[in-house]
Amino acid sequence: MKTCHVCGFACDNDAEICALCGAELKTFEAYEQELREAEERAAEKAAEEALIIKKPVLAASVDNVVAAEIYKDVLRDNGIHFTCDESDDAMQIVFGGGFNAQEIYVNEDDLEIAQQLYENVVNAQMDFDDQDFEGFEEFEEE
Ligand SMILES: [Zn+2]
Repeated sequence: MKTCHVCGFACDNDAEICALCGAELKTFEAYEQELREAEERAAEKAAEEALIIKKPVLAASVDNVVAAEIYKDVLRDNGIHFTCDESDDAMQIVFGGGFNAQEIYVNEDDLEIAQQLYENVVNAQMDFDDQDFEGFEEFEEE
């Protein structure tokens, strides 16, 4: 007897596809093995990500929370890995009204492009600066 890993239906031993849900039948061991491999790949990827920023250098100190968020989006869009000093208190920065400077670090190799992108963000965000801050204030009152 093989038990379908998707729906739990008890299938014939020689069945290759579940008669109930049509899932491909695997032995429990094969299924477990697959899960383990997926977990290992995820762990490897996380370890890789952690090592990507080998030499963190300060790309920008952003004292405007809107600009900081935009800048981080831009970095992500450009595939630049970064780290910054805001962590668990991100909400506090937004709702508490204290617009502390965020220091954003990138890998040494990415510094030049990161700084160029920051220039673009600073130049581009001048116009809608005030609007965005109004939005935050309204939110805070709720
Ligand atoms: Zn099934």
